Amino acid sequence: MGDLSLKTIKFINAQLLGRKRPTIEVVAEDQTALESSPVSMTFLSTETTEEREQVLADCQDLYESLKNTEVTLLKEFHKKYLDYPFNNALPKQMKALDASQPWILYWIACSLRLMDKTWLGEPVQRKIYAKIFAASLEKGPFCGGMGQDPHLVCTYAAINSLALCDSVDDCWSQINRQAIYDWLLSLKCSNSGFKTGVAVGECDSRSTYCALSVAKMLNILTTELCEGVEGFLLGCQTYEGGFGACPQEDEAHGGYTFCATAGLSILNSLHKCNILRLAEWCSARQTAEEKGFSGRSNKLVDGCYSYWVGAVNSLLEIHGYGSFIDKGALQEYILKCCQSSERPGLRDKPGKSPDYYHTTYVLMGFSLTEHLLEVTKQTEPISVKSTTNGFQLEPVNPVFGLPAEDVTKFIDFMSQLPQVC
Ligand SMILES: [Zn+2]
Repeated sequence: MGDLSLKTIKFINAQLLGRKRPTIEVVAEDQTALESSPVSMTFLSTETTEEREQVLADCQDLYESLKNTEVTLLKEFHKKYLDYPFNNALPKQMKALDASQPWILYWIACSLRLMDKTWLGEPVQRKIYAKIFAASLEKGPFCGGMGQDPHLVCTYAAINSLALCDSVDDCWSQINRQAIYDWLLSLKCSNSGFKTGVAVGECDSRSTYCALSVAKMLNILTTELCEGVEGFLLGCQTYEGGFGACPQEDEAHGGYTFCATAGLSILNSLHKCNILRLAEWCSARQTAEEKGFSGRSNKLVDGCYSYWVGAVNSLLEIHGYGSFIDKGALQEYILKCCQSSERPGLRDKPGKSPDYYHTTYVLMGFSLTEHLLEVTKQTEPISVKSTTNGFQLEPVNPVFGLPAEDVTKFIDFMSQLPQVC
């Protein structure tokens, strides 16, 4: 390699890609030396490999120290963390989440319902729908907070939060389905995906899943709304088997793979993707040592992928393809590495603090490992029930990210209401 090209590579790495490590050049004297030179990963130490070694050591320490201890889910302990914001102001550092108010409600309410159906009482359900309707006076589409523009992912979180309220005070009848339908149509892009807002917003598999989920839950999923969406989502599957954000241009990622496969399940089209590659990708997300899932190749384990990837595995399972993960090992990662008896709430990995987001998705991932789910309507495999007895958490519907019973009740209620046009 000549000087000029090495300089060019250094420039690209340092200035354009912002990489912190220098380019490594190995000169092979002859063909034998070239063939015997080590593969880069065996000698290259990067921030990622160092971090991974640290995470692995932390997990192994916990597995070793807890090897003779029967660890269960500390439900009463986590409840304290979840009850807190209904009676206290959130800490100042959470002000960055001002535009995510329906999300915080959804995460907390969903976690409480999963641990015990009775833990989300009517007084709290009233607070939830009142807060959501106060930020969106038209009662749909929904905003992240007062004075903000309606946003698709906030509308998804708002509908899921309301679905957890059991129609207290008949709040489900008040949702403005017609306005949500008209707005969803206005969000449709020329590539058949949905963007997150009318004026500005990204159009990807996440926003498209949110549109499908909201429409299916509200019984407003018309042929017009669905047109071309299947092709958009199928185009997001990458050579690795997982799905990216946009067709033909992205890296496979746990969150987007959930969105795309759950979206395809709503369209009853999951079988049209490359199932074998998807199953292989799902399986490859779980590491033998840490036992949890990573969201992408060569990334660290993280508790939230217990749901994002775990739900993809459950979708494959309920569609009859089987399971491709070690559920027992995942339970061990959740109980021993995502949970600590020192602080309530669940976390990403050892060394991280608990938060509401991780608490919900770790709990939902745990629930999916406990229950064997059965489809209740073969023609439309999005309604499920559990056939398992003796569990710690309520069963989750892996398409909508809610307790299975709440989904069934909400969709049944909406199917009694008149069609929108
Ligand atoms: Zn995470």
